[in-house]
Amino acid sequence: MARVVITGGAGFLGSHLGDALLARGDHVVAIDNLVTGETRNIEHNFGHDGFSFVNADVSNYLWVPGDVDVVMHFASPASPIDYLEMPIQTLKVGSLGTHNSLGLAMAKGATFFMASTSEVYGDPLVHPQTEEYWGNVNPVGPRGVYDEAKRFSEAITMAYHTHHGLDTRIVRIFNTYGPRMRPNDGRVVSNFIVQALQGHDLTIYGDGSQTRSFTYVDDEIRGFLALLDSDVTSPTNIGNPNEFTIAQLAELVVEMTNSGSTISYHDLPVDDPTQRKPDIAKAQSLLGWSPNVQLREGLEHTIAYFASLLAS
Ligand code: UDP
Repeated sequence: MARVVITGGAGFLGSHLGDALLARGDHVVAIDNLVTGETRNIEHNFGHDGFSFVNADVSNYLWVPGDVDVVMHFASPASPIDYLEMPIQTLKVGSLGTHNSLGLAMAKGATFFMASTSEVYGDPLVHPQTEEYWGNVNPVGPRGVYDEAKRFSEAITMAYHTHHGLDTRIVRIFNTYGPRMRPNDGRVVSNFIVQALQGHDLTIYGDGSQTRSFTYVDDEIRGFLALLDSDVTSPTNIGNPNEFTIAQLAELVVEMTNSGSTISYHDLPVDDPTQRKPDIAKAQSLLGWSPNVQLREGLEHTIAYFASLLAS
């Protein structure tokens, strides 16, 4: 049994991660300032002996009394519309928040687990993306606040590992979807499902030929635990390599929701990556991890979640 601190513990990924840790008998301290996290994601754990919640901004200060075995740093706005609206907070949580989380891990002799992102590859010129690729990021573009904060997070995590001997993990997370995404999250899967269920136009940015590779949340969380339980300290991609154009995703969502919605086309956001697909050979060979849930099945669960949320 481990006692695990999750920053961003009320967020989409942080809350699912907390559930998975509790299910295997670990204890969880979830910390979140509820800027993009939601109490409804964690309230089912409020009566659980092994669960506690602290409302705090980890960019300012982070301390947890008692033993801590693992610190998992998941706090950050993670949707492009969120980090465009909160650029400074995004930079702070990726820099000061990561520093504070590393400090807690050092003080407790804990393992530190950094939630990084495929955005470190920027608009990638190498396809699919291997962990060795250094990326193609515009540091001063609108997405730079997220991309560079996460790149800094990786750099400082490696520095604590090599300089202080801290036990660390770095996961590069690719586009993940599933229940507990916010209906107004702004990301493509939640936008398209909510639009289709409400009979509104599906908003394709650009011509819809850009690609993403979508991972169902259960697969992603299983990958996090496999990485945590391993001794792999270098950055590791966790994502489903099945690649779709955004136009294909729109078509599939309309079909699966039996929606009468049509498509409307809008400007492509600045620096929107044209393609993204993980190379997962490393996760497969070192962690024995592969995704199990394909897009249609994952969308079924996600559509059911949004249908019930919108009806409530
Ligand atoms: N996108 C879109 N319509 C939407 C939301 C997003 O066409 O309503 C596009 C967006 O421009 C990008 C892709 O879908 O090319 C994925 O966007 P998302 O915000 O989900 O994640 P990203 O991978 O860009 O961080």
